Amino acid sequence: MTENPDSLKICVLASGSRGNCTLVASPSARILIDAGLSGRRTVECLAGLGIAVGEIDAIMVGHEHSDHVRGLAALAGRHRLPVYLNRETAEAAAGHIPARAEVKIFTNGQPWEIGDLEVLPFSVFHDARDPVGFVIGWRGQEVTVATDLGTPTRLVRQRLRGCRVAVLEANHDPGLLLNGTRPWRLKQRVNSSRGHLSNRAAGDLLAAETGPNLTDVFLAHISLDCNRPERARREVREALKRAGKEHVRVRLTYQDRISEVLEIFDAPPPAPAEETPPSLPVQLELGPFLTKDPAI
Ligand SMILES: [Zn+2]
Ligand SMILES: [Zn+2]
Repeated sequence: MTENPDSLKICVLASGSRGNCTLVASPSARILIDAGLSGRRTVECLAGLGIAVGEIDAIMVGHEHSDHVRGLAALAGRHRLPVYLNRETAEAAAGHIPARAEVKIFTNGQPWEIGDLEVLPFSVFHDARDPVGFVIGWRGQEVTVATDLGTPTRLVRQRLRGCRVAVLEANHDPGLLLNGTRPWRLKQRVNSSRGHLSNRAAGDLLAAETGPNLTDVFLAHISLDCNRPERARREVREALKRAGKEHVRVRLTYQDRISEVLEIFDAPPPAPAEETPPSLPVQLELGPFLTKDPAI
């Protein structure tokens, strides 16, 4: 990864039910969002980008499902990378966090800085203890990372509104999910208010909520058996086009290889957000929390 002192780079190292990990790298800070690949695979992916694992400043963990924490033991233990997560997630993921790890507990909704990056965790609806997405701010621009959410809540909508780049899940196609071979209970979980967003839900969300700053979207957590990558991209592109946003570039992410590296440059602060459209009512669905992602 070549160095430019005035750019921010975003690359999804992997995404899906077998492991999630996203790199955001500024001139002064490099962070990983989630550590769902093995330690070895994470090191390999970073090396492919010209980054030594020791150059990573921090790992942010969104929730405790294994596809988001599988590599934590190696990265926080052997490689001594600091881990940031909220208290509930720290408790739920305790088995993946070595005793000697440097653990920083954050509070949802309260931002902090790592180098020239500002990190803001926000709550999402998902079948985990206290799951969050993240807004990464850099010089007035925002990258919103939101995977694993069954309901586009008012807060999720707000966090997408000003973003320049969205890493948003387009998990499944409802027809493929319905007709797939998974147990009925698992299908219900994926499709529930605490499960995952369908292609259509992702497209509608981006079309309705993103503002004029949005230039690039990464579609994440694409199901291997209940989705087709090109179908996901087509649906989201069509939704953006209907909203007059056909200029937005829609990129895919993969389970077994890294995405394109997106580089964005310094720009003026975002324009003020437009009037808020009415949000969907939030439907609470109570049930036992899982330690595995319902999409697995
Ligand atoms: Zn999950
Ligand atoms: Zn997941």
